[in-house]
Amino acid sequence: MQIPHIELDQFHCVECNKHFTDKGFNYYSGNIEYGPAYFSDEGVLCSPQCALDHFQRRTREGTLK
Ligand SMILES: [Zn+2]
Repeated sequence: MQIPHIELDQFHCVECNKHFTDKGFNYYSGNIEYGPAYFSDEGVLCSPQCALDHFQRRTREGTLK
């Protein structure tokens, strides 16, 4: 899945606030041009760990659809 017409510079991880272009941010297929590897309806996630934290938090909060 690819996100069309995204402004990459505006992305921050919704869990740890890492900037999209910072070292350690995971990109789709490892290519920054393809956008983030992980995201939810709230925003983007930088790594498998943040994705996991995010979905666990959302599950606890009951906000995950
Ligand atoms: Zn993160």
